[in-house]
Amino acid sequence: MRWEPLLSHRPMTVVTGFPGILGTDVSPNQERTAVTANRADDSLEQVASEVKVCPLCELCRSRTHAVPGEGNPQARVMLVGEGPGWHEDQQGKPFVGASGKFLSELLTNAGLSRDEVFITNVVKCRPPGNRDPLPDEIQACSGYLERQINLIEPDVIVTLGRFSMSKFFPGEKISKIHGLPKEIGRRLVVPMYHPAAALHQGALKATIQEDFDTLPKLLADRERARETSREREDRHSQSSLF
Ligand code: SF4
Repeated sequence: MRWEPLLSHRPMTVVTGFPGILGTDVSPNQERTAVTANRADDSLEQVASEVKVCPLCELCRSRTHAVPGEGNPQARVMLVGEGPGWHEDQQGKPFVGASGKFLSELLTNAGLSRDEVFITNVVKCRPPGNRDPLPDEIQACSGYLERQINLIEPDVIVTLGRFSMSKFFPGEKISKIHGLPKEIGRRLVVPMYHPAAALHQGALKATIQEDFDTLPKLLADRERARETSREREDRHSQSSLF
């Protein structure tokens, strides 16, 4: 059964950043201020423009293109992977290789398209040789992800892989908690395996598919809760008129 998305009222603009400012010289101090700033006029375009010239960790030296992320700025679902791979580094876009193709299939099966979600990573530049991102690299990059989450305000954050999971579920094991949503602040966070892991270990393929298939119900539940809260507020404001 195909899930009918609850996003018809949302624009489908795709944000990919500002390629025109590539190569701008930004000092580390300026950039460190920018990455942690909580400005009222912040935007996804601003985050993308800073990421593309970011000098905050060693990964800036080996990248071809930084990959800020892309998708619907009003997405209800945000997917957070680990870091760009070779294809992503070449194209400056997230999840464009084989695992990206599999991710698109998983989304389609869950009744979602890539244009409806926002996709990014915990580190925005490719670790050389696709090695794991280091703790100091994840830490240096964390301000960008936090700003993206605050700007998009998704209902559901899906973490893809161990490093993304650890940001929200420190000390946990993905084999134990995958597919189990947890309310963190105002959002539901669902840890899932990385699509690349599922491609390399056939046994995980069905598992990640099952986990993705829970997304429509989670979104519908969030929508119902929002409606209930709206109705309660309406009743409260009407009763206060008398
Ligand atoms: S990985 Fe993040 S912190 Fe490191 S250089 Fe790239 S954008 Fe900057």
